[in-house]
Amino acid sequence: MSTRAQQYDAQVLSRTQLSAHLVRLVLGGPGLAGFTSTGIPDEWVGLVVPGQFQSRYYTVRSWDGAELVLDVVVHDVGLVTEWAALDCTGDTVTITEAKGSFALPPEAGWLLLVGDLTALPAIARITETVDLTTWVLLEAADRPPDYLPTGPHVTWLTPPGDGQSRLADVVDDLDWPAGDGYFWMAGESAQMRAIRKHLMRERRLPSTAYDVMGYWRGVAQRQPRAVDPGPIYRAGKAAGKTDEQIWAEYDDARTPE
Ligand SMILES: Cc1cc2nc3c(=O)[nH]c(=O)nc-3n(C[C@H](O)[C@H](O)[C@H](O)COP(=O)(O)OP(=O)(O)OC[C@H]3O[C@@H](n4cnc5c(N)ncnc54)[C@H](O)[C@@H]3O)c2cc1C
Repeated sequence: MSTRAQQYDAQVLSRTQLSAHLVRLVLGGPGLAGFTSTGIPDEWVGLVVPGQFQSRYYTVRSWDGAELVLDVVVHDVGLVTEWAALDCTGDTVTITEAKGSFALPPEAGWLLLVGDLTALPAIARITETVDLTTWVLLEAADRPPDYLPTGPHVTWLTPPGDGQSRLADVVDDLDWPAGDGYFWMAGESAQMRAIRKHLMRERRLPSTAYDVMGYWRGVAQRQPRAVDPGPIYRAGKAAGKTDEQIWAEYDDARTPE
């Protein structure tokens, strides 16, 4: 079985500032002709920007068959950050085929979605797609206006500063809704590992009841290895592993010895 991801060239058709740190890029052009959406609401693509060979991963905010929308957070520093911070309209980028992870169990009666600004695009797509009572907890200083639909109960938390996150503590102290539901979360990788352990060992949730993804790594640790999640994801799926097992393997592969 091939583990090579399909790649597509695309042009940046427009760049719009949605809030202080969130930039909307609309990609298009003939190179996207064969691109298809998985329909999974947290689906992502790898993005390689001009002059670089490493990818970074971005949620497909929307795909209408011709235009692919990515909402990119501009951090203090970073490979995509430094490119997206300036006017990149007209540039050619490479994206990989879309993959998704969100897997709502049929018995779920509610949704609980937690994340930082980088998770906002996926949270928005999930809330637009899934018709269940939904709670959203967002740790972000930027609050792009009218970004989320009006249905979900949304709580905005102020980040502690210095690029840190307190989301692991927030999840430890959560008031969980009654009955069966689905918990989806994305944020800093070391915290996500701690949260997976908490959900497994203390809350004793079955792995099908949650999806916790490491979206980025904080600077306090040594730099992660650059690991493409695509081959790990495909090999894991081929081996019949759950998304939780696959994401845990991805985090382990990125952690320096
Ligand atoms: C499946 C998936 C989907 C994702 N979807 C999106 C998306 O839709 N939009 C989006 O903006 N990001 C998304 N991300 C996260 C994004 O890939 C990372 O934030 C990435 O590190 C940004 O790349 P960069 O080149 O700008 O910075 P990098 O060169 O990777 O990192 C530079 C510095 O920025 C810091 N940094 C990176 N992310 C954060 C953060 N969230 N908060 C604070 N500091 C940070 C790093 O620790 C590092 O010090 C997704 C990640 C995954 C795995």
